[in-house]
Amino acid sequence: MKRVGVIGGGQLAWMMGSAAKKLGLELIVQTPNQADPAVSIANDTILAAVDDAIATEKLAKKCDVITFENEFVDLEKLSLLAQQGVCFHPHLPALELLLDKYDQRCYLQKLGLPTPQFFALEEELAHIGSVKDLSNSVSCQKLGFPLVIKVRRHGYDGQGTFIVKNIDDLQSKVTFSQIQPHLFLVEEFVPFQKELAVIAARSVNGDIVTYPVVETQQKQQVCRRVIAPADITPTVSAEINHIAATLLHQLGYVGVLGIELFLTRDDKVLVNEIAPRTHNSGHFSLDACKTSQFEQQLRAVCRLPLGNSQLTYPCAIMVNLLGYEKSQDQHIHKRKEIQKIAQTHLYWYGKSESRVGRKMAHVTALLDICDRHKAMGIADQIETIWYPS
Ligand code: ADP
Repeated sequence: MKRVGVIGGGQLAWMMGSAAKKLGLELIVQTPNQADPAVSIANDTILAAVDDAIATEKLAKKCDVITFENEFVDLEKLSLLAQQGVCFHPHLPALELLLDKYDQRCYLQKLGLPTPQFFALEEELAHIGSVKDLSNSVSCQKLGFPLVIKVRRHGYDGQGTFIVKNIDDLQSKVTFSQIQPHLFLVEEFVPFQKELAVIAARSVNGDIVTYPVVETQQKQQVCRRVIAPADITPTVSAEINHIAATLLHQLGYVGVLGIELFLTRDDKVLVNEIAPRTHNSGHFSLDACKTSQFEQQLRAVCRLPLGNSQLTYPCAIMVNLLGYEKSQDQHIHKRKEIQKIAQTHLYWYGKSESRVGRKMAHVTALLDICDRHKAMGIADQIETIWYPS
């Protein structure tokens, strides 16, 4: 396995670039725009939408294996390619269970893994009538308000996730959404103590490697900071590792996946979401681990032995730099200022245009002692330079 096709050409594919070079692999990327980050590091590019399966057929002719940096694919059409012998890692049956948030939750429940309580809005409406009748919904009453509603497909970075305070709020969100027919996952609001995440990988022969569990911090449903390692008990850590191993094993998964979790106030772990690819919560591994999540993904899908996932520093903090305006400014000055902070690594994704909330870059700061307070101080410093006051 030498030539790896990657569906999606955003920053996650871009960050595979240096690992591919190190391992002597070629990357061929399918992505819609010449300006997408990974085009600059790819050996070859198929310029086409991520869900264009005809383009993926062309991609397959240039590659030994195809993997994903983005899950907005057309699984039905890709399955026809798989039947013709195209090798996808992770394999498509695993993606089929994970791409729809409701199906994913049902699968987690089937495996006996803990999740927030949930139901499918469409099924509830089939019982009670229409959106107007939601006040009669026993499922809503059972979960109580606030509730969280999530579009079942194509949500990301909190887009498509809404916290609703009451029935009126729920009705208006559902009525005015673009999602038809009402394909929402509805779930209990979890008043969590912390949000956690873990990156895990499985090789073709079933070996499993997990990274240290991290704490993620969100603002308005978007990840702003990740602290590695999370300050949790060994019991919580063991439980999360067990969840990761169960999932990878049961899915027959090959590659890297990211698991987002809630830690409740009474120290219970609930799985929020699985991302079947490398994940923002694992970016710290580029600088703070022996093997980055991107190298691990390539190792797994190319049948190479998995690498060591241990931390090489006692502590690391990753800060996302999100767009705060529509502009084409490349922010050279701010980038230089941030890089003056000791032991920081800045990854500028090279996107041609910034938009509010768009992930433009991330910074990882490495600490020689495990000092959460200090880590938060560095993150504050980075954000003060980046965001206008
Ligand atoms: P996305 O896939 O768009 O990232 P998530 O399901 O991960 O959406 O939700 C984004 C964020 O919204 C979470 O990280 C968390 O902060 C908040 N959130 C999501 N679901 C819940 C919930 N059930 N209870 C409380 N907060 C939630």
